[in-house]
Amino acid sequence: MTEFSLRPNDDHLQIQSWIHEFAVDVMRPVAHEWDEREEFPWPVVQEAARNGLYSFDFAANASMDPTGLTYPIAAEELFWGDAGMGLSIFGSGLAATGIAGTGTPEQVAEWAPQCFGTADDVKLGAFCVSEPDAGSDVSSLRTRAVYDQATGEWVLNGTKAWITNGGIADIHVVVAAVDPELRGRGQASFVVPPGTKGLSMGQKYKKHGIRASHTAEVVLDEVRVPGHCLLGGKEKLDAKLARAREAGHSGQKQPAMSTFEMTRPTVAAQAVGIARAAFEYSLEYAKERTTFGKSIAMHQAIGFKLADMAMEIDAARLLVWRAAWLSRNGGLSRGEGSMSKLKAGEVAVWVTEQAIQILGGYGYTREYPVERWHRDAKIYTIFEGTSEIQRLVIARALTGLRVE
Ligand SMILES: Cc1cc2nc3c(=O)[nH]c(=O)nc-3n(C[C@H](O)[C@H](O)[C@H](O)COP(=O)(O)OP(=O)(O)OC[C@H]3O[C@@H](n4cnc5c(N)ncnc54)[C@H](O)[C@@H]3O)c2cc1C
Repeated sequence: MTEFSLRPNDDHLQIQSWIHEFAVDVMRPVAHEWDEREEFPWPVVQEAARNGLYSFDFAANASMDPTGLTYPIAAEELFWGDAGMGLSIFGSGLAATGIAGTGTPEQVAEWAPQCFGTADDVKLGAFCVSEPDAGSDVSSLRTRAVYDQATGEWVLNGTKAWITNGGIADIHVVVAAVDPELRGRGQASFVVPPGTKGLSMGQKYKKHGIRASHTAEVVLDEVRVPGHCLLGGKEKLDAKLARAREAGHSGQKQPAMSTFEMTRPTVAAQAVGIARAAFEYSLEYAKERTTFGKSIAMHQAIGFKLADMAMEIDAARLLVWRAAWLSRNGGLSRGEGSMSKLKAGEVAVWVTEQAIQILGGYGYTREYPVERWHRDAKIYTIFEGTSEIQRLVIARALTGLRVE
């Protein structure tokens, strides 16, 4: 087991400064523009691919760090640059993680690199779980996967909602019900390869924040994929279904409440990055802005606000690092991943609101970035499990009871 340390090692520091430079030089100058355009920021993602940040190699190396800290450190720095563009760069990693989570080594080797493409030919991945009637309650997915014995293919039908990179991705990883009666335990994940007939983009959502990130419906209409696109393989699925039928409905876990426990620290770190951006900006502003003959930072009301903002951000980061380390070293047991996501999401919303308050009227205008950071922060109490769902996960882990 790797020692837990609050001191980033040389590799962490190098990655941190490399991404910070990218955030300062490439992201910050165009963050406002892409937020206003509400379009996928291709030039920024292509630049990230050219310098190696957007690549399968980076994602694979980061996920193998024995301390677990590379991803949170990278995410905080990237999302300090901009959250909408940050998610455009990190979004494909969700699909790759979905493949790595249930795929065989051969499937991971075949499909995960295709979620990123190459520096000259950038590709995207999308991870499609949520549906119009199944967000938190992923055990009630309606998208069906039916096996066609005659051709050895799987046939997928349904509509996915709120999908990051949905419909513009090259690789879609789709979670579907194989046996709806078994609910969460009757589901399987499938890779839908590029250019597969029947997969199309539905509506593209116009959002409150992270507007440079593409979010859309994915419609699956008689989508046929070869047998080897079932992640984990048919034998493993059949055995899982047989076990689930034997056990009946007793002790059934909702996958939404446990599967993402290991990826939550990275999502939480994104929220810490947004909060830190807003804190740093409002700190500088408070030192320069004067009212009643002194800088507003010298008014106790503002000074105390800054103190609380710094303390909350540090508290969130400590929870994130703890959870990241535990998740890499096999020690998650008390809902620590959810604690980090819950705390960081709520801190980001609160800190960015305080930042608007510190900037006063200027903070409320689009001329200054704090209102954008506030809009961006809000998603962190909603996606990858809402704040309420995180509390359920933590309460269940602590009590061992089915808290509802
Ligand atoms: C910008 C964006 C990007 C996204 N990207 C993806 C993606 O790439 N892939 C993907 O699969 N999904 C994605 N999602 C979907 C996201 O994960 C869901 O929106 C989220 O899980 C919440 O589901 P819902 O919207 O159906 O809300 P609901 O589940 O309907 O929840 C509504 C409210 O009820 C509360 N609630 C629900 N159940 C309970 C309960 N048991 N106890 C207490 N309170 C409860 C919730 O906390 C929430 O406040 C994205 C969403 C957004 C907005």
